[in-house]
Amino acid sequence: MVELSNRQEKIIEIVKNNGPITGEHIAEKLNLTRATLRPDLAILTMAGFLDARPRVGYFYTGKTGSELLTEKIKKYKVYEYQSVPIVVQESSSVYDAISTMFLEDVGTLFIVDENSCLTGVVSRKDLLRAAIGKQDLNALPVHIIMTRMPNITICRREDLLIDVAKKLINKQIDGLPVVKDTPKGLEVVGRVTKTTITKVFVELITDHHI
Ligand code: ADP
Repeated sequence: MVELSNRQEKIIEIVKNNGPITGEHIAEKLNLTRATLRPDLAILTMAGFLDARPRVGYFYTGKTGSELLTEKIKKYKVYEYQSVPIVVQESSSVYDAISTMFLEDVGTLFIVDENSCLTGVVSRKDLLRAAIGKQDLNALPVHIIMTRMPNITICRREDLLIDVAKKLINKQIDGLPVVKDTPKGLEVVGRVTKTTITKVFVELITDHHI
């Protein structure tokens, strides 16, 4: 969330009380030049506090900082934040899946068929469960232990990130695949995890345009 400077707060006050008002008139009231004010007006407009109409001037949108923040978060799309998916063939062994999980440093693997289409998901605990059993992990194909389609929670690139965050909570899962519809099935094109959401949360604090 952007911290407004004293001058920016004053500009908002002036526009609230006098708007619509031209940049020239705001500058006069502050005993400053129009050029000095330009960056402040640009920030306030970009952040959504003020709106500008050509030949009319600036007016106050009436939106508080937290309303603007909420509006902004609601617009985040999956494709803006998704990360690279790590996929494993369904014929791979559980042993190889465990190795991949360590090598790629992820907590969820997406399982695909020979057409690279999604057939399942394995999590850390799925692999742990298999590992404490008596099976030979090299001989056990990962598709035996995976959670399979159609029970996989998925999302698409254009989905809203907030909806994906709700799915993570409601389904009590750590991540889900971003998929693309193809004639052969769902191609895995990305992943959204709890880490993705945590990064967005931190970015909100460091983002200077709210
Ligand atoms: P962990 O099991 O390591 O705590 P999760 O909470 O992500 O990790 O997984 C819980 C269970 O849900 C596992 O059995 C896993 O296979 C399954 N799972 C994980 N992600 C999904 C998903 N996107 N859709 C459906 N099931 C999933």
